[in-house]
Amino acid sequence: MPELRPYDYQYLKEALNLARESPQHGSSPVGAVLVDGQGRVLARGRNRVKEAWDVQERHIGDASFAHAEMDIYFQLGRLENAEEYTLYTSLEPCLMCGGASGMVGVGRILWACDDPWGGSGRLIRWNEHPAFEKIEVIPRPFEDLEREAVELFAPEARRAYPEEGWAAWHERYPYAAEYVDREDVQPLQIQLKDAQGA
Ligand SMILES: [Zn+2]
Repeated sequence: MPELRPYDYQYLKEALNLARESPQHGSSPVGAVLVDGQGRVLARGRNRVKEAWDVQERHIGDASFAHAEMDIYFQLGRLENAEEYTLYTSLEPCLMCGGASGMVGVGRILWACDDPWGGSGRLIRWNEHPAFEKIEVIPRPFEDLEREAVELFAPEARRAYPEEGWAAWHERYPYAAEYVDREDVQPLQIQLKDAQGA
């Protein structure tokens, strides 16, 4: 197990809190935080795929690549000393975001729960490309946050990839997948429940 830093829990939790904001705008519940080597926040991001425009009035929101991690990278532009940075995500990054993180040269990536269908962790860790070799990957370091993240994203996983993808979720996180099927939990329901403080 790679070494954890004192602020890792706090920022991974914050990524989860950011993830909860996206369904309020019709987007998928995924959030991310990027911090520098001293543990200071550089940018916060969340999924904006179904949002027509971002705050700068550019057509980034509404694009299928408007993922939480891309939200961060577009906000920051060119990164200096990215190898000192840590990226926290509520969900294992997809191929695009894992690839982008390798390209910008982020030093560490922590995610709260796996995405057994869409996640790129297998490739980030095992790819022999030197850009990926240097990334310290820390999947699911905290059990309670993993559970929270799974409960948050599982209904979205069923909606977004209902066939083989959802089967992969059943295999990886059976307790959550069975619950979502049994109760027919919809992505928005989680947001509504949280909004009511339940
Ligand atoms: Zn992504």
